Amino acid sequence: MTREKTEKHEFQAEVRRLMDIVINSLYTDKEIFIRELVSNASDALEKLRYIQLTEKEIYDEALPLEIEISTSSEDNTITFTDYGVGMSRKDLVENLGTIARSGSRSFLDAMEKSGTEGGDLIGQFGVGFYSSFMVADSVEVATRGYRRNSEHLIWRSGGDGVFEITKGKGHRRGTKVVVSLRQDAREYSDPEVIGDILRKYSAFVPFPLKLNGEQINTTEAVWLRNRSEITDQEYGGFYRFQTNSFDEPRHRLHFSSEAPIDMNVLLFVPEDNMERLGFGRMDPGVSLYSRRVLIDASPKNLLPEWARFLKGVVDSADIPLNISRETMQDSSLVRKLNSAITKRFIKFLEQNSADDPKSYGDFYGRFGLFIKEGVASDFEHKEQLRGLLRFSSSRKGEEELVSFEDYLSGMRKGQEEIYYLFGSARDTLSNGPHMEFFRSEDIEVLFIYEPIDEFVMSTLGEYKEKKIVSADSVDVGVADKDPESSSERPSEEEKSLCGWMKEVLGERVGDVRMSRRLVESPAAAFNSDSTMTQGMKRIMRNISAGADMRSVVRLEINGDHALIKNLASMREKDTEFAAIIVEQLFDNALLAAGYMENPGSMVGRINKLLERLSSG
Ligand code: ADP
Ligand code: MG
Repeated sequence: MTREKTEKHEFQAEVRRLMDIVINSLYTDKEIFIRELVSNASDALEKLRYIQLTEKEIYDEALPLEIEISTSSEDNTITFTDYGVGMSRKDLVENLGTIARSGSRSFLDAMEKSGTEGGDLIGQFGVGFYSSFMVADSVEVATRGYRRNSEHLIWRSGGDGVFEITKGKGHRRGTKVVVSLRQDAREYSDPEVIGDILRKYSAFVPFPLKLNGEQINTTEAVWLRNRSEITDQEYGGFYRFQTNSFDEPRHRLHFSSEAPIDMNVLLFVPEDNMERLGFGRMDPGVSLYSRRVLIDASPKNLLPEWARFLKGVVDSADIPLNISRETMQDSSLVRKLNSAITKRFIKFLEQNSADDPKSYGDFYGRFGLFIKEGVASDFEHKEQLRGLLRFSSSRKGEEELVSFEDYLSGMRKGQEEIYYLFGSARDTLSNGPHMEFFRSEDIEVLFIYEPIDEFVMSTLGEYKEKKIVSADSVDVGVADKDPESSSERPSEEEKSLCGWMKEVLGERVGDVRMSRRLVESPAAAFNSDSTMTQGMKRIMRNISAGADMRSVVRLEINGDHALIKNLASMREKDTEFAAIIVEQLFDNALLAAGYMENPGSMVGRINKLLERLSSG
């Protein structure tokens, strides 16, 4: 007999780090390693079931698709056996030697960000297979792939930075994970403890789950059951099982139909939006099944991109079982499912907003970005989605949000446009010069704070034939669009003052005019570029430094204001000093309008002004 050669491998550096954290963590819910290993076994069986649809030659074909867990308090071990796809040598090195899983990657990222030792984050992310080292002295994985000529292999590690792979004998198809427990983790060899844990986390495993020979779950698919017979606890438990999470879903939508497409749909909105919390872009979370067979756990086109925060299951008997994932993605059937389910979900949100505005407001606060993304990118559902947008309003308090419909119903007689104003904070916006006119006319203005909101407003352009207009644009609030030809023509002195100010400011300003809309402010800046809002210009400038995106700004001055009156006479007495005041007046207007790039440049001038003032 030849002695089997043992291959030694080092774990990838990141895995070593992860394992160090896991091994030394004081994390109290170590039991989650059971959920992780059961979910891997279940995944391996799902994969095999899918392969069985198309491949004839499967090793050990007759083995039942089930998971067996056995405990031995004598040996102080717990063993997880599945008859799934198994792993090749390459799989072992890649899957159990590197960070294969996005969950572990997010865990490391989150740890980096939070600057903690990571222990308390383990449960939030689940660290996959490596979580077994929270309780293990060593772990042995015996495995054999589903192909006829696959090898029997044994993977072993003591969690000390290295693992070894040897050839094994006599193992059947699938994978057997033997966890040799640490002394302080003996409880996990107690079948009663394990039974409780399995019932808690793994009740929804879709394959028979046996503990020391006894099946402990029912494998009925929740989404195919009658809604009235499913309790909230069951829904929540299924959600947590499917998403490997611990939260309570904030919404669920369960429906089915037979025509025109057969579908059973169970959707969940999670408690929170992980992208908003800074954890990278999510993969689609609604799995596609056909008659309980998992076709694709994270299908790309089943739902629109913006709906990637949804979790759950779509099961359609119309999906041919032998379809490849690639063809399936582009099939017209998937397009139909996409459209039907998305419409239904949007309706669900509309209903929620009507029935329980507070609940919808909370949803919108966390997931609103996805709705905005949809409005900007999902052509098919844009119409419906824009009704779900909510805004802060000049007429309402900080907390209360309004929709476009609310806005329409509060419009003044003869008002033809919807107004919004973009800025960094509510206070700045409501006290800024652009609001003066709207306040005096009692016209509602929507306040928006994020560049994406501004982008959404300009992509929409209008809502129900009412143009959506930025309240800082030059035309707004000027009854007669061309003041030069209006009855209130500026006097010769006013014209001369404006002309001189334009000379002082030069290129920086498009023009200077007497204002017909200012009430309190001496001057205000308006955007006279009809194609781009100021916020968009700011973004463009950031993207392409050096590009000539100079704002086209109009400065309007308030002839009734003392400062402007004084300025005219100051110009006669001390032109040089009057010019400094004009400069400052302009910068103040830019600042108030939120157009100012670097306010620091004003300091020198302000000091000059103060010097003059303090000289008496
Ligand atoms: P994840 O399950 O999220 O991919 P894990 O760390 O739990 O991450 O597992 C890593 C990979 O190891 C899996 O994706 C799978 O390819 C492989 N694996 C783990 N357990 C098994 C098993 N019982 N059968 C087959 N493959 C497995
Ligand atoms: Mg896993």
